[in-house]
Amino acid sequence: MLNFRNTGIFLLALTALLVAAGYLTHPLPKILYAAPLAVYGLLLVYGSCTIGSGFYCKVLCGAPTDRKVIALSFDDGPSAAHTPRILEILQRSGTEAAFFCIGKRVDDHPALAGQIHREGHLIGNHSYSHHFWFDLFSSRAMRSDMGQADSSIEKATGLRPRLFRPPYGVTNPNLARAIRRGGYIPVGWNVRSLDTVAGDPEKLLARVLSRIRPGAIVLFHDTSGATAGMLEQFIGKVKSDGYQVMRLDKMLNLSPYA
Ligand SMILES: [Zn+2]
Repeated sequence: MLNFRNTGIFLLALTALLVAAGYLTHPLPKILYAAPLAVYGLLLVYGSCTIGSGFYCKVLCGAPTDRKVIALSFDDGPSAAHTPRILEILQRSGTEAAFFCIGKRVDDHPALAGQIHREGHLIGNHSYSHHFWFDLFSSRAMRSDMGQADSSIEKATGLRPRLFRPPYGVTNPNLARAIRRGGYIPVGWNVRSLDTVAGDPEKLLARVLSRIRPGAIVLFHDTSGATAGMLEQFIGKVKSDGYQVMRLDKMLNLSPYA
């Protein structure tokens, strides 16, 4: 399997082999020695930025099923601007979803976090700070930030989350360690709505609908007006296409709280 450890060992062995070959036969072109390093660099970038790659740690990004089930997830809230409308649409359509909340926003809007939980939705940890440089934090600093988010969520809802969604969807060795030591279950997605950059709800609707498949986890943001604008239509359409919208932890068969 393509992961951090295996590729490191493989490319190290390949470099050693090239060096040995260079000594034993005639010297190889210098560029050949640099090639494994360049491949390794590209793999590290790919592994960091592709949440479903499983390069640094296994992240759950969908359910392996042929059944027409999907799960909706909303990141980065609670937001005073859009979370209430999103909650209203979910409630009216009888839909349960997952909210990966930012701890400091839970501190800003504890009543909204409480409402998310009371109305039957799942709350997960999406870091406390969602800091722009979060991925450059030490593993210890990451864990402390994640723990702070747990405390904020627990204060607002009485529940301590186990599911963690990496900020920006980026994973690396430090985060893998923080996840392991903190006992979190990392959860990603396999349908990215790109709703943070979408202006037009119609286009967003078409984009997401075209990507729906059995077992999908859809990434939305409850900070997005475009998502609030298309959500009702989206839920109506997937249901009329025969899909059941399940709560993420139920679709993946996980216990979501500590
Ligand atoms: Zn985020």
